[in-house]
Parts: sequence; C-alpha cells; structure tokens
Amino acid sequence: MTQETPAAPLLETKNLKKYFKVREGWLHAVDDVSVTIAPRKTLGVVGESGCGKSTLGRTILRLLDATEGQILFKGQNILTYNRKEMREMRKKMQIIFQDPYSSIDPRMSVAEIIAEYMLIHKTCSGRTAAFQRTAELMDTVGLARRYAGAYPHELDGGRRQRIGIARALSLDPEFIVCDEPVSALDVSIQAQILNLLMDIQEDRGLTYLFITHDLSVVKHISDEIAVMYLGQCVEYASSDTLFENPMHPYTQALLSAIPEPDIAMRGKKIDIIKGEVASPIDPPAGCRFASRCRHARGVCREKAPALALREEGHLTACHLHEGGCNL
Ligand code: SF4
Repeated sequence: MTQETPAAPLLETKNLKKYFKVREGWLHAVDDVSVTIAPRKTLGVVGESGCGKSTLGRTILRLLDATEGQILFKGQNILTYNRKEMREMRKKMQIIFQDPYSSIDPRMSVAEIIAEYMLIHKTCSGRTAAFQRTAELMDTVGLARRYAGAYPHELDGGRRQRIGIARALSLDPEFIVCDEPVSALDVSIQAQILNLLMDIQEDRGLTYLFITHDLSVVKHISDEIAVMYLGQCVEYASSDTLFENPMHPYTQALLSAIPEPDIAMRGKKIDIIKGEVASPIDPPAGCRFASRCRHARGVCREKAPALALREEGHLTACHLHEGGCNL
C-alpha cells in the first residue's frame, strides 16, 4: 500500500515577527510565529483581542512590513519581492475584513466597489466586461443583482459582508485572509456567511487563514487551528484534536467559556481566566501566560516554553507537557 504524500504547503510563515516601536519600547505583536497551510485548507487563528492574530494576517499579506522571518507562498519568500512582483502577488492573496464598510468608499455603488480591483489591475477587457463579471460575482455570493446600484449604507451587515467577499474574489485569488468576517453579524447571518465561505472554498479550491476570537465559529470552518496568546502561538492542532483534547491551559479556558446550547449542560464549570495580562511591550522572559495560569510554577516565570510536538500533529508551548506530563 502506498502512503499519500501530503500536499506541499500553499502558504508558510517561518519565525515571523512583527514588532511596533512605541514610546516605552518594542511591542511584540507577532513573535516568532510559524504556521503552514496546505492548499484548499483552512487554518483558524484564534485568541483574545490584542493577541496579534489580525497583525499576523496583515503581515502575511504584506499590508504591514515584517520585522523578521519568512513568508513563503508556494515555496517563494514573498518578503524578498519588489513592488512590481508584490503587485502581481496581491491578485493571489486577498483579505475579507470584519467590517467591509470601513475599507470601502461609501460614495461608491455596490457594483463599483466590486469592480474596482478588476479595473485597477485591468484583469478584464474593459468596463463592460468588468461589470458583467461583477454581476456574476454577485450571483456567486448570493447578492441580488438589483442591489448593483445601491450604496453600502443602504444594506444590512450580511449583505455588506457579501460585497466584501465578492470584492475579495474579483481577482481570482488562491489565498484569502478572513479577518473576523462574521464577528459583527447576528448569529443567524453568521451561519449563512460561514456556509457561503465554505461553499466558495470548495468550488474555487481556495485556501483560508481564518481569524476569529470565537472558538465556536472557528471549529466549523477550520481544518487546523493555531491558538495565539500575546503574539505567540501556544497550541496548534487539527480542529478535531484541539476540541477533543485541548492541552494548553489557555486553550482549555477558552473552550470552557464557549456557551453550551444543550440546556442540560448549562451548569458546566467555566474555567475563568484570572490575573493581569502581561504587557506585550518588551515582554519578560518566561511563559507569557504565567500571570494568569493556575498551573504556573517557578520555571514558567524563568524560561519560555517552546512550541513542541506533544503527540502526532499536536503542538503546545507549555512546561507541563515537557516529558509527556498532561494536565
Ligand atoms: Fe501555565 Fe507554565 Fe504552561 Fe505557561 S508554561 S501555560 S504558566 S503551566
């Protein structure tokens, strides 16, 4: 029997860092993050607000300059690309924002917004072709063509997000960073948008980096999940493994806080994270979660735990798992 060879990654980061200079020192927004995403798969990136997940997505797209490390797209380090090369690369890598309204010109109509990138990059043979393609993209994202002349403020959040998705698809990308794309939407609309993103992924063979603070959202869409805390990846596993056997104390606390739909489970114990969040500015040595971790011990405050393989396909950065000890 021959073993299936895993597909070469579409996107990888290697020891990626993004620091911001602030008055008090250096803010370590993304600190030594290495992730791998296979073609047609979704990597969910989850963590609290301020953990660096959105900065990671924007740095990967080179909307922010990386401080150090590598970003490999099909094996090529795009950090070495010049402006012209990057302009071509932008067609392949797109982003869907949490609030598309903040990233679009409110004076433009829906059709103009969706057609804009195609006109800038001249990917169609003229305006008529661009607007024909716009109409097709509206069909793809489930936005009725009668809204083509409407303005974004006339539409609800779900329809506005469909504009953002159509615009992201307009250049036929291979990779999309979905940055909290459903966080601002009602729960019923969230499900529709998530299903739409999954259908589009299957039809077009897309690869996603899906950023969210909500583990219950990421579960449905992700093949693998990276949990971030204060700029670092603290746990990395397949979606099923992470939910069945969360190993890092931070992930365990996040999972225990997911609201339980089953009324019989409503009384379950929630692992509330107490303590002060450490500063991301010139963070001290040791584990960054130590100030909030109920398992913290001496070594945790002295030595940073490395993100290491604990079982097949499952990595954590926690001293308690060194030598095979589980919580
Ligand atoms: Fe907690 Fe120590 Fe593990 Fe950090 S290394 S998560 S402080 S037990």
